[in-house]
Amino acid sequence: MAINGVRDVTDIIALEGLQHIQDSLGRVTKITTAILAPNGVPVTQPTNLHAFCQIMQQSEAGIAMCLKTNSRLIAENKKTRKPSTLICPSSHLMTAAIPIFLGDEYLGSWLIGQLRTDTLDLSLIERTSKAAGLSAEEAKRSIALLPVISEKEFDSILQFLQVFTEAITWLARTNDQLNKKNQELIELTALLNHSAQAFREFIDLSDVGVYLVDIETGNIIMCNSVYANFIGQQSIPDLIGKRCYNLLGYGDWCPFCPRDTLAQAGEAAREPVHWENHLEEFGVWLGITTRAIRWIDGRDALMITFVDITERKSQEERTAYIAYYDQRLNIPNGMKLVSDLNSSEAGAYVICFDILGLRKTNEAYGREAGDLLLKSICDWVADGNGGGSTPYRVDGDAFAVHMHSAQDQTAMALARRIYDRFSEPWTFPLGGVMQKLYVGVTMGVLRCMDEYMEYPEFLNRMERVLEIARGKNTLAFYDEAADRAHRANLQLELCLQKCVLNRMEGFSLLYQPIVDARSGRFAGVEALCRWNCPDHGPKSPIEFIPKAEQLGLINILGEWVLRRAISDMKRFRLDCLEGFFLDVNLSPLQLNDRELPRTVAKALLEYDFPPKRLSLEVTESAEIHFSTAVTKALRALRRIGVSLSLDDFGTGYASFSALRNLPVEIVKTDRSFITALEEDDQQQLTYRVIVDFAHASGKKLVAEGVETEKQRDILKRLGVDFIQGYLYARPLSFEELARVIHQFQS
Ligand code: C2E
Ligand code: CA
Ligand code: CA
Repeated sequence: MAINGVRDVTDIIALEGLQHIQDSLGRVTKITTAILAPNGVPVTQPTNLHAFCQIMQQSEAGIAMCLKTNSRLIAENKKTRKPSTLICPSSHLMTAAIPIFLGDEYLGSWLIGQLRTDTLDLSLIERTSKAAGLSAEEAKRSIALLPVISEKEFDSILQFLQVFTEAITWLARTNDQLNKKNQELIELTALLNHSAQAFREFIDLSDVGVYLVDIETGNIIMCNSVYANFIGQQSIPDLIGKRCYNLLGYGDWCPFCPRDTLAQAGEAAREPVHWENHLEEFGVWLGITTRAIRWIDGRDALMITFVDITERKSQEERTAYIAYYDQRLNIPNGMKLVSDLNSSEAGAYVICFDILGLRKTNEAYGREAGDLLLKSICDWVADGNGGGSTPYRVDGDAFAVHMHSAQDQTAMALARRIYDRFSEPWTFPLGGVMQKLYVGVTMGVLRCMDEYMEYPEFLNRMERVLEIARGKNTLAFYDEAADRAHRANLQLELCLQKCVLNRMEGFSLLYQPIVDARSGRFAGVEALCRWNCPDHGPKSPIEFIPKAEQLGLINILGEWVLRRAISDMKRFRLDCLEGFFLDVNLSPLQLNDRELPRTVAKALLEYDFPPKRLSLEVTESAEIHFSTAVTKALRALRRIGVSLSLDDFGTGYASFSALRNLPVEIVKTDRSFITALEEDDQQQLTYRVIVDFAHASGKKLVAEGVETEKQRDILKRLGVDFIQGYLYARPLSFEELARVIHQFQS
């Protein structure tokens, strides 16, 4: 800025100083001297301006001559950047100019002159003065007054002045740079002050407490008003230099700064550390962030900021209470149990118990009484009877006790103690009177060794163990193995569902021939279903049929079997064979399907299969025995013209009364009968009674599961009509059946 703005030398050295320097030089040397601006005009008052030049200045021609001399000197100065000397063409005196440069900028010249040598030709002076229109006499007289100087002396003055001007410009330049630096510093300081002010205002604006502490001494370096208010002081300046922990009422480093942690963390401590702290003395929760920083004066410092999070914390606590506690009994709930389970060490057991008859208590005595009853049970458990654990209310009337143990027996023993307590009444005050109440309980022990469990999964397991306990009417135990088996089972069920719905994927039928006992020829077949699960491999119908029943898939499956069996028999043209019958198994549940008779009729019609060639096997079960609806369904089937077989006679519910009442034409005795026949005469006698009874009621008898010739011989002797068993044939595939088709009697 300074350099660009310079017009002449007075811009770097004040005119006053310059004049003074110039006058001093004049006093010592007696020479005439002046300092010129770059345009040649003097900027100082000439020193020792002697008579001759004064005379020259009197005429315009004289001034022009002087200026011409100056111009020549300056022009050369500018060009060469060196001192230039000449003999003044008007005065014939020695004149010189020393350039003053600042960097590349020409600031003017230092002019010296009016010096004569003792060899000066005065006639020349005369001529010049005449040309300038001046008196020659006066000129000659004035010249005589000028100092005489040798050329050598002139040169040394010149050299001195050169060094001197260089010194001046160097000084000026240095000064200029200093000025510039100074200016920058001034600006920077202003900026800093401004920023510091803005920062202070900023940290004061927020509701975050901020303070900065010397990490060595704990002295406060700076802070904001939130901090000052927090510790109950008004004046921020008063706080500076005080020990931060003393201000907070601590004798030593306080919970506000993890100073040791930070010291250990070294460089990593420069990362901010956040945590939440409950300051009981202040009755607040604070969210604190600390960060080690290097302060501007080089000290290691801790920047601590904090916010009051009390409101949020109590909100969280309220939320946690609502989420984790049962409001009515004021005890932890199932969510809390799972959270506790997940955060406790391995080896945990949960004793789950379902209190029976709670609804009745509520209805009879009011909800209040129900709560009091539960409370007295929970109090008893919490009073050391639950192995030191408080009971959790998982859901309505389901409770749990969490127990640590390494052994199943220990957990079971505790469960047993709680279980047995339920054989005594519970007492609680109701309406000022002590009430006594008995309630039942279903209890199971869950072994929870898993790493982590989700709440729904826990609920599933609890329901599972309680279901088992309910079924067995005793204490149940459920561990991971049981759970795995249960899950595998669920998987299988899902797969079964998928396959049935996916047009019976993996299903097929086998046909087991049924043989005429007298002739030994094949009389009929029983269709037996097979399932090769794509995920679990071949599954026995003993396993998948009950599942299909439970999953509500049995009607779809049953209809498929019926249609497939009919169509296969049709392909062998077995329907045209006199006396042939196709046995198809019916699940008791299918008999509940009101559509069944129609479904059967439709299939027969579609394949043009004679109804009398189809025999539907039903098993006598609780349902069949007692339901008139089922009897109705059987009669409807009979009306279509299909015949019915009573399967598995001799097991379970089968009875003679069923044999008499059910509209069946064939009775099939179970394999369990046959195995006993060989050794047991009594069994043979029983069997004879069955055969006679069946025949007397106009029914034929099929003996199932015949494996030996001896069994066959006995059965033939006892008068059995048909025999089915491995002795003659195993269940055969369609292709295998094709190979033995000739064995059917014509
Ligand atoms: P079930 O109706 O009593 O069928 C007879 C079972 O005894 C068949 O077992 C058959 O393979 C077997 N068996 C026949 N002769 C012998 C023998 O000499 N020795 C031995 N050890 N076993 C013999 P499978 O095929 O495993 O069927 C088991 C049960 O599954 C059937 O018992 C039936 O209750 C049910 N089932 C099979 N297919 C169907 C079906 O399509 N629908 C329905 N609802 N149930 C079916
Ligand atoms: Ca059967
Ligand atoms: Ca059977």
